[in-house]
Amino acid sequence: MTMDVLQRDDLRFPQSLPEFQRLFPDDAACAAYLEKARWSDGFVCPHCGVVAEPFRFANRPGILRCRACLKNTGLTVGTVMERSHTPLSTWFWAAYLVASQTPGMSAVQFQRQLGLSRYETAFGILHKLRAGMVRPDRDWIGAVPDQHVEVDETWVGGRTRGEGRGVHHKTLVAAAVEVRHRRPGTAQDKRKDGRYAGRLRLAVVPDRSAESLAGFVESAVAPGTLVITDDWSAYASLRKRGYDHHAIAECGDPEVAEEFLPIIHLVFANLKTWLNGIHHGVSAKHLQAYLNEFTFRFNRRFYPFNSFRSLLGIAGDAAAPTYAELYSGDWEHPTCCGHGR
Ligand SMILES: [Zn+2]
Repeated sequence: MTMDVLQRDDLRFPQSLPEFQRLFPDDAACAAYLEKARWSDGFVCPHCGVVAEPFRFANRPGILRCRACLKNTGLTVGTVMERSHTPLSTWFWAAYLVASQTPGMSAVQFQRQLGLSRYETAFGILHKLRAGMVRPDRDWIGAVPDQHVEVDETWVGGRTRGEGRGVHHKTLVAAAVEVRHRRPGTAQDKRKDGRYAGRLRLAVVPDRSAESLAGFVESAVAPGTLVITDDWSAYASLRKRGYDHHAIAECGDPEVAEEFLPIIHLVFANLKTWLNGIHHGVSAKHLQAYLNEFTFRFNRRFYPFNSFRSLLGIAGDAAAPTYAELYSGDWEHPTCCGHGR
């Protein structure tokens, strides 16, 4: 089931809350949207191939029944909503909230917004949508002529109630971000000289060794790309690993870092604000999931409609964890890169 709905003009993304409510007033409207996403030219029975208007059931809007072979087809198959008992309209509302609200919300806020009686349901939906945030970002960044990638690492987290800010609680995060240039003549931030962030990759790494940091670059950035880092020794092997590597001698001067690695420091500042402000710090165990969410939002900050469809799995599909999997510890949040190649 391949659905290239990200480019479809007939599948609109609501630009406002009233428009959302008008487009998706009930489960039937959501089902119609799913149907249109899957069969732009009308229902084709996946069992027998017949092209004909299917039977519909008022009390089961997610099911279409073929008039020829009488077999059912589920509209949520292959989406994040598959096998869920939560109404379609709740899922759509949830995805809209997650896609349109920056910087996201907690499961408690989410439960209240969706009007759900059970916290577990809100938690499950939110986590499934978050799992959907990892799928499209597994390819390499970089490899754009006349464009470079900044790479750096930072410590995040470590604020445990009553324990202060000890480094022993902090987790190391490596980042790579494309640096783009505004065309001459467009409005520019003078300090950043017209530079702005392209695509981002973030990953938890175990330490500051060459294996960890250069290994991260290899999993996130296309070979041949011009990579700018500070002069930490772990990055010294990048040229040998096939990158056009340029190391900046920081000498511990934050202003030097600000001047030569400005975009990635901006990303780190935003990331830390987001992690602390919204989620009041995140445990190391769940950090990669939050990094994936941040990356997903960051990379689609100009395209909320792509987020909405990607989140619901309408644009393809993402393996989503069940509630039981989340709690048994069997579910591993995929890292942002290094998979699927
Ligand atoms: Zn059929």
